[in-house]
Amino acid sequence: MRLLQDLSSNLNRLFLFELYDGNRIEAVFYRGDTLCISTQVGCAVGCPFCLSGKRGILRNLSLEEIINQYEFVRDKVSVKRIAIAGIGEPLMNWERVKSAFWYFKKLGLKVSFYTTGHPIKNLRELIRLPHAGISISIHSTEEEKRKKLLPHAGSLRDLIVVLREELSVVSQRKRKKISLAYLLLKGVNDSTQDIVNLAKLAKSLGLSVTLLRYNSTVEDYEDVDDKTYEEAFLLLRSYGIRVTLSTRFREDKLGGCGTLVVNRDFIRC
Ligand code: SF4
Repeated sequence: MRLLQDLSSNLNRLFLFELYDGNRIEAVFYRGDTLCISTQVGCAVGCPFCLSGKRGILRNLSLEEIINQYEFVRDKVSVKRIAIAGIGEPLMNWERVKSAFWYFKKLGLKVSFYTTGHPIKNLRELIRLPHAGISISIHSTEEEKRKKLLPHAGSLRDLIVVLREELSVVSQRKRKKISLAYLLLKGVNDSTQDIVNLAKLAKSLGLSVTLLRYNSTVEDYEDVDDKTYEEAFLLLRSYGIRVTLSTRFREDKLGGCGTLVVNRDFIRC
């Protein structure tokens, strides 16, 4: 494995790695303290709005390949937190991701996760780890619609059942670190009823919502406008839901959410 390219924008720093078999993956340094790393070459979930899973799954990363995304850049940037949120579904390469988690923890780093929550048995384990945050991708509270947006992420019903069970035994402090991630897509899941349903689900689970804007990477999907985004935020707040908003780092052209790509040639900024 080698670091092939290191590119900076005003906000983010994108690292392109080449693996022993010629495959390429990416990691992003953002927020001045966080390194977002990949766990797979591609992704089997197949979200139609995401570039990372466009070519399906090629293979899992080895433990060494997961860790080296940090080791190869630790002298270049000041990493305090690892976000396991790059290319791949971490729960689908769970044993290695778990080992990497403990490796990073031993170095004193905070470790947070973005996941679809599938496979569900691994989500149970993840919730019990001493993590620094988990965002669970919901994107719709309707089973059929969610299946279109996250085709291979398992059933929403099962996810909610498991969340209810697991959250009933975690401390309030730990519960605050878990959120439902909701990517607003114009005309898809942004109606008032969609947001009311999201608010009711979040309230019943006692979870906050991470409200994400779309980096328009795939033609068929569009970001909502500012007004719709603000209205969704206010509606959720009116139900007493804590809401984390999309940050500029997540929307940056370099390394924004959903923009990481497998096997990219050299990147032009
Ligand atoms: S959004 Fe996440 S889970 Fe969906 S295809 Fe992309 S990397 Fe996979």
